[in-house]
Amino acid sequence: MTTPVYENFINGHFLKNQTGDTFAVKNPATDEVIYHVEIADEFIQNAAIESAKQGFAAWSAMTPIERSRILLKAVAILRERNDELAKVEVLDTGKPWQEAECVDVETGADVIEYFAGLAPAQVGQQQMVGNDFYYTRKEPLGICAGIGAWNYPLQIACWKSGPALAAGNAVIFKPSEETPLGAIKLAEIFIEAGVPAGVFNVVQGAAEVGQWLTANPNIEKVSFTGEVGTGKKVMASAAGSLKDVTMELGGKSPLLVFDDADVSQAVSAAMLGNFYTQGEICTNCTRIYVHKNVYQQFIDELKTRTEQNIIAGDPMDPEVNLGALISKKHQELVLGYIDKGIQEGATLLTGGKALSPASAPNGYFVEPTVFVDCKDDMTIVKEEIFGPVMSVLVFDDEDDVILRANDTHLGLAAGVFTKDIQRAHRVIHQLQAGICWINSYGNSPAEMPVGGYKQSGIGRENGIETLDHYTQTKSIYVGMSNIESPF
Ligand code: NAD
Repeated sequence: MTTPVYENFINGHFLKNQTGDTFAVKNPATDEVIYHVEIADEFIQNAAIESAKQGFAAWSAMTPIERSRILLKAVAILRERNDELAKVEVLDTGKPWQEAECVDVETGADVIEYFAGLAPAQVGQQQMVGNDFYYTRKEPLGICAGIGAWNYPLQIACWKSGPALAAGNAVIFKPSEETPLGAIKLAEIFIEAGVPAGVFNVVQGAAEVGQWLTANPNIEKVSFTGEVGTGKKVMASAAGSLKDVTMELGGKSPLLVFDDADVSQAVSAAMLGNFYTQGEICTNCTRIYVHKNVYQQFIDELKTRTEQNIIAGDPMDPEVNLGALISKKHQELVLGYIDKGIQEGATLLTGGKALSPASAPNGYFVEPTVFVDCKDDMTIVKEEIFGPVMSVLVFDDEDDVILRANDTHLGLAAGVFTKDIQRAHRVIHQLQAGICWINSYGNSPAEMPVGGYKQSGIGRENGIETLDHYTQTKSIYVGMSNIESPF
């Protein structure tokens, strides 16, 4: 059976490349190639820039309310096609249908809707300076590049295009080469909604295409989601033409469970923050610090619920709540970390092996894995694993656990479980992380800015402030009297 071949999406339609080079995309749950995608060669790259220039001219000339209306149509189409789009995400990523069906499309649509609503509300300033005055305009940047990771492909494309388009920019988006289809679907939806051709273009490929985007002098900004190491390369390359950057990078986030916490709730948060999307979520609380007084209760319940309530298998089965990892290579990387944890002296509470469920025997599954007896300097406690692997640590002193939680170069997220309201805020204010939860974990509504401290990122996505990251301020001074000149 022949599989479809997707071309790059430029200037409102699919465009064939000249080299004929393609790459294959596999379904992580079956190990089968499901389609091919043409790589953006020089011809496509040049066409993408020309297209975005034209798109920008048309889109930035519209009023914010006109742009808003069109984007809201795209939101409606996204919601109408929820199930079709969710299926694309399941087949590309290996994540469970039961998640994609209610999270991936929905949270993407929410963010576009949020920024569409904000677009007409953006205002400048005006101030008298003597008899003269100045005013400011919030102008779009021009062409913005988005580079996405593979864990939430459509959501990432929406989170980057929502604020960029609402502010009047054009976008060239490069999805991850592991999961290229969601962004193409979004591009088609934007056209259907009435976004002018050229405003949202999709180029396909791996690092080389990303490097071309980050180095191209016609592009004013790069919004990147991916690993810390790649983020550093992107930023270094963007510096060559002094591009603005937003960096949404990796994490190794702590969750602190105090002895007055609702332990069952804390276990729920720990499981969500390690096993949802089979552990492939940047904000995951992969370091769980549990107070010694509730430690035994916590790990007993965690073990029981992990062993009884997790169902791995064909991700399209609505009962399945643990999907396949993105690739064979990534599965091996995660299993390598598990081996390292055992070698360095951590104890497996549960899990630890590859899985081959009957309904998806060739998928890249890893058992939900919990390590206890962990020490702060173990590799599994220090490095982002990006799989279903949780490390549990014990503490007995508040100040000490805060120091331990902060002892990392990463700072994406953090959480606290306690019923003591003062302690909750006191502790969370001291944790060095950009996204924090109290008695909750993982929720990320469109209204809330998200992004990392330290090497987990620069800038924010979502929330009002993000619109500022996609505009630049023009100050205009208006003289109201004759110029006094010595010449
Ligand atoms: P990755 O860094 O390998 O790749 C991300 C993207 O960058 C891909 O599209 C890739 O093709 C591209 N790329 C690779 N090399 C490049 C280069 N030199 N120049 C430009 N682009 C290049 O990351 P991944 O494996 O796709 O995603 C997993 C990582 O993403 C994890 O570290 C995770 O924590 C992080 N992540 C962060 C967030 C967040 O919001 N903070 C969200 C999702 C994922």
